[in-house]
Amino acid sequence: MTNNTALPTLDFGNTRLAFHAKSDARLKRTYLMYRMIGFPFTARVGPQVLNVMLRNHLPGAKAIVRGTLFKVFCAGESLEDTLLTTRQLQQFGVRAILDYSVEGEKTEAGFDATCQEFYDTLVLGAKQQPVAFSACKLTGLASFDLMEKISAGKSLSSEETAAWERVKARMERLAEASAAGQVPFFIDAEESWIQDAIDALAESLMERYNQTEPLIFTTVQLYRHDRLEYLRGLIQRSRERGYVLGVKLVRGAYLEKEHARAEAMGYPTPIQASKEATDHDFNEALRLCIDHIDQLAVCAGTHNEESSRYLTELMALKGLPNSHPRVLFAQLLAMSDHISFNLAHEGYNAFKYLPYGPVEAVFPYLSRRAQENTSVAGQSSRELELLSREMRRRGFWAW
Ligand SMILES: Cc1cc2nc3c(=O)[nH]c(=O)nc-3n(C[C@H](O)[C@H](O)[C@H](O)COP(=O)(O)OP(=O)(O)OC[C@H]3O[C@@H](n4cnc5c(N)ncnc54)[C@H](O)[C@@H]3O)c2cc1C
Repeated sequence: MTNNTALPTLDFGNTRLAFHAKSDARLKRTYLMYRMIGFPFTARVGPQVLNVMLRNHLPGAKAIVRGTLFKVFCAGESLEDTLLTTRQLQQFGVRAILDYSVEGEKTEAGFDATCQEFYDTLVLGAKQQPVAFSACKLTGLASFDLMEKISAGKSLSSEETAAWERVKARMERLAEASAAGQVPFFIDAEESWIQDAIDALAESLMERYNQTEPLIFTTVQLYRHDRLEYLRGLIQRSRERGYVLGVKLVRGAYLEKEHARAEAMGYPTPIQASKEATDHDFNEALRLCIDHIDQLAVCAGTHNEESSRYLTELMALKGLPNSHPRVLFAQLLAMSDHISFNLAHEGYNAFKYLPYGPVEAVFPYLSRRAQENTSVAGQSSRELELLSREMRRRGFWAW
C-alpha cells in the first residue's frame, strides 16, 4: 500500500504472521514464560528471589535466569550473540536496535567500558547491514548523582565539572561513530529528576549531528504531564536552529518510582492524573510529529495496539507511504510481536529493541519486564491470548 487515502486495515490478531519468526520450541518457551509471569505472585516474588541469589553468587542462579527470563527477553550476553536474532528478524522485515542493557554503573572505569560497548554496537551496525540502530542509557555512562545535581540546577565542584566533561566526551565519541557509520542512535529517557541533564545533552548533540539526517534521537515520555509542551518546544527549536529532530515517543517506564519520590519529598507528581491522560498525550504527540514530518523523524516505542494503529492512520491521512523513512515503530524483543510482524508485513518500518549483556547486569531490565506484565493492565493477558491461539493453531496444547 503506498500513498493511501483509505485508512489501513491492519489485523494485529493475525497470529500466524505475528509469530512466523518463532520456531515451535521458541513459541512454547515464550508461552510458558508468559504463563509464569502472568501470576502476580511469581512475577513479583520470582525476580526478588533471583536477585538475592545472583547477588550472593548462589550456585544455579545464573543458570535459572539464563534458561528463563533471559532466554525469552534478551538476545544474548555479547554483541556477537545478538547477530543470530538480528538475522532472524531481518528475514521477516523487522530490523534490530541493539540495546546494551547494563544499568547502574558507578565507576569511571565502568562508564568507559559501557561506552566502549555502545561504540562497538555502532561500529558493528555500520559493518553489519541488519543492525539498524543502537540505543543508549545515559546512566550507563554517567553518575546518577551527578545528573541529578545538574538537573536540579546546582553548581558543580571542579571534580564534578571534569566528570561531566568526560560524559560529554563519551557521548561525542558515540555521535561521531554514529555519523561515520550512518547508524543512528536513540538516547533513552529515564527518571524525571535526571532527565534535564539528558535532554540538554541530547539537544546539543542533535543540533550538531542531525544537520541533514536524523542520526541522534532523543526520547519523550508522555506519562509526564509537561512533555507534550516540551515536544512542541523541541520541534520549534529544531526548526529555528536548522536541524532535523529525531524523537522516540514512549509512555514511560518509571511510574511507581516517580510517584513514590514525589510523595516522599512532598512535591507534585510529574505523572499524568490517569492512564487516559497519558494515552491522550501520547496520541497527540504522534499527531504533532506527523504534522511536522518535514522537520523530524519519529519512532513510536509502544506495545499499545491503538496507538500503533492510530499512527498508521495518521500516515495514511497525510498521504505518507507505509515505508516512509521518517516514521518508525519499535517494540521490545519478545513483546507485542503481533504488532511488529504485522506492521512489517504491511511494509512499515518495524524494529525490535534487542537487549543484551551479562546476565547479572541485565537483571534489572529483566525484572522490569516481569513486573511490567503484571502492572500494565491487559498486557500480559493479551500476549498470552495470542500465544495460546498460535499454540493451538500449530496443534499444541495450551490452557
Ligand atoms: C522500543 C521501546 C523503547 C522504550 N524506551 C523507553 C525509554 O527510553 N524510557 C522509558 O521510560 N520507557 C521506555 N520504554 C517503555 C515505555 O515507556 C512503556 O513503559 C511501555 O512501553 C508500556 O507502554 P505502552 O505504550 O507500550 O503501552 P500501554 O500498555 O498502553 O501503557 C502502559 C503505560 O501507560 C502509563 N500508565 C499506566 N498507568 C498509568 C496511570 N495510572 N497514570 C498515568 N500513566 C499510566 C505508563 O507509562 C505505563 O508504562 C520503551 C518501550 C519500547 C517499546
